Parts: sequence; C-alpha cells; structure tokens
Amino acid sequence: MNAEIIAVGSELLLGQITNTNAKFISNQLSELGINVFYHSVVGDNADRLKKVIEIAESRADLIIFSGGLGPTKDDLTKETIAKHLGISLTMDSTAMQFIEDFFAKYNRPMTENNRKQALILAGSDVLANHHGMAPGMLLEKNNRTYILLPGPPKELEPMFQFEAKPKLATRLNQGGVILSHVLRFYGIGEAELEHKIQDILDQQSNPTVAPLASDGEVTLRITAKATTEQEARALIHAKEQEIQSVVGEFHYGNNDDSLASKIVEMLLHHKLTISAAESLTAGLFQSELAEISGVSGTLVGGVVTYTENAKIQQLGIEKSLLDQYGIVSSECAAAMALKVREKFGTDIGVGLTGAAGPEPHDGQPAGTIWIGFSIKGYEPITRKLQLSGMRNTNRIRAVKLACSYLMR
Ligand code: ATP
Ligand code: MG
Repeated sequence: MNAEIIAVGSELLLGQITNTNAKFISNQLSELGINVFYHSVVGDNADRLKKVIEIAESRADLIIFSGGLGPTKDDLTKETIAKHLGISLTMDSTAMQFIEDFFAKYNRPMTENNRKQALILAGSDVLANHHGMAPGMLLEKNNRTYILLPGPPKELEPMFQFEAKPKLATRLNQGGVILSHVLRFYGIGEAELEHKIQDILDQQSNPTVAPLASDGEVTLRITAKATTEQEARALIHAKEQEIQSVVGEFHYGNNDDSLASKIVEMLLHHKLTISAAESLTAGLFQSELAEISGVSGTLVGGVVTYTENAKIQQLGIEKSLLDQYGIVSSECAAAMALKVREKFGTDIGVGLTGAAGPEPHDGQPAGTIWIGFSIKGYEPITRKLQLSGMRNTNRIRAVKLACSYLMR
C-alpha cells in the first residue's frame, strides 16, 4: 500500500502555517510500514482540489486529507470528494448528537452551518472527534482508501492515532500484527550510515528498514508484519542483529530514548553528579538534561557565562588565560569545565564555548566550538567541533555532541 497526503488550506500556501499534519501522518504511516510517496498542498478551492485528487488517484491507493471539514464556506473537502466520487452526503446521527452535546456543554447557541459538520460521505466509517466537532471519515471506494481528517492538529493527531490507524492496521494485515522498533545512532551521518548498511536497505521487504536524520542524530525504524506478535518480534530481532553487526558502535538507544535520557540514566546508575558552564549554548545543555525526570539526582547546577567578564567574575577564570588563548579555545573550555565542577562540587564539569555564527567570534570562524570535560581526579579533556550549520543548529548540535562524548 502506498499513500499520498493532501493538506487542504490556503493558509498553508500563504506561508501562515506549517504543514505539521503531513509530517505527523507520514511518521505514523511509517510505523505501519506504509510508504508515503507524495505530499500535496492545495488551497481552499474546489476545482484545484479536484485536480489534486485525480492526480493522487493515479499514483496512490491510500489518500489522506487534512483540513476543510469545518462549518465555514471555505471548508469544502468532503463536498468536493462527494461530488468527485459521485456519492451523497448523509446526516450521521452519532455525529449530530455529538455536536448538539458539544453546544449544550458549552452553553452556546448552535447555528445552522454547524449541522453541516454532521454530514458524512455515504458508506464511510465515522472517525470520532473527541477534541472538536467535525467527525473524520474512512471510505473504501474503487479499491482505494480515502481518509478525511480535520485540520487542527489537536483534533487530527488523536483521531489519526486512535481511530484511523487501528482501522488501517486491521485492513493491512487481516488478523496479523505490525510491530516497529526504532534504533538510534549518534556520531555517524545519515549518508555514511546508509552507505554502511546499503545491502540491508536494498534487500528489505519484511521487515522494512527506514532511515531518518534530524539534529545530528540518525534513526532506523524496523517494521515487521507477521501473524503473531512473537513472530514479528523475532523478525525485528534478527534484523536488528544484522544492523548492529555493521554499525553497532554508533548505536546508543531505542524507541523513545534520547541522548539526554541515556546520559542521565548512566550518571544515575554510576551515582555521578554533573554541572555545566555554558557560553554559546546559554543553558541549552542543562535544559536538555532537565527534560528527563529524575535528573535532580545528578544535575546539581550550572552557570551561563556569555561574556568574557562573566567567565572571569562568575567562574574565576584568569583574565591572562583568556587574553592568551581567547574565549573560543581549548584552554577556555577546559577552564570552564574545571571551574564549574569545583564551584558546584560535582564529579563531572562540562564547559561549552564557541562561535555560534553567523559571524566569526574572537578570531575564530563561525561554527568553531570547544567542549571541555573535567572529571574529578583527571586533567580536563576537550573536543573541538567545526560545524557548518546556521546559528541555532550549531548551538543544538553542540549540545547533542557534548551528550554523545559523555556517553563514551
Ligand atoms: P475547523 O473546524 O477548525 O475549521 P477544518 O477541518 O475546517 O477545521 P481548516 O479550516 O482547514 O480545518 O484548518 C483549521 C486550522 O487547523 C488552521 O487554521 C490551522 O491552524 C490548522 N491546520 C490546518 N491544516 C493544517 C496542517 N496541514 N498542518 C498544521 N495545522 C493545520
Ligand atoms: Mg475550517
């Protein structure tokens, strides 16, 4: 089965909103092992929408619509589909009851155009909307599946996940199961990882293996279809072994793990405390760790020392050292790590300094970053990064790389 997602809404074309619905749905479909070959975006215009539907029908057997199910005149998704497929819209009593209850609950008068939201494509399965009024729909017609979802993400996301996805999964694999498992890697680029496992990617069928990269991390999603859960797990396990034997050294976690969660887990396990002095990242590193609950057992505190003066006054770094080596230097990163570790009395101190960009800083080109690590009883060590991204990408990658060095 291959899918196309059609996002309907002029705001998308005007650049007023980002098409996060397509991203969400694609992600969800990959968990089912369904390939998404196209994303389309079209304004609130019946003629153009019809054309996009015709194109989608020529190349996809699952077509998912986002938006245009509301009560206003520019909401025309289901009307256009009904006309195109030659089917009628019928009032759905469950949907109608839901809308009436919604208005009663919020004590608001119901207008006639709200009734329009209870109209569904004749013969479709209703997808309940627990966060708004317009119900979604799933329709099988001419060997294709059409799914209609409301635009607001807070309605669309749970509707897809809890109403549409189980129905799709059943259709895909009558009586069987689909399981997926995500492997997470750091310290290797997407291209390099794909190159190393090219053979595995080339001969995949069941399980499928889908790579994805973001913020310097790469993930591989393994999806298996089988008649029993045990069988699916065995397929995933075998594929994982195959992958690990090639790129295992870069693997750090699975599924919902993050670099930060693995570090916090590792520090708590070894009963080690940590502190950080941050310049270019201005607290991002600590914030990343603080996303993990239980971090107070290891993260003691830290400082943001952005200027040279702050580094001298808050951390007690010698002015002469900064004069001699500069702020963007191995020496500065080492001193920040050491001083913050002493100041907070922790086992590990981390120092981050650099030129985030876009301008060079302190005589160093944009993207030059030094990370220092001070571990009680050892001389500080430092790592240099030469990044080429935009300012904020560099700051985020510096944090991720600091995390990945801590893992080793
Ligand atoms: P409503 O009943 O709210 O009108 P609707 O199904 O008619 O819902 P739209 O009118 O197309 O949906 O969009 C409503 C809102 O949902 C938009 O203003 C926007 O905030 C959000 N939205 C729509 N499409 C997308 C999309 N593809 N990605 C992210 N958000 C979206
Ligand atoms: Mg609308």
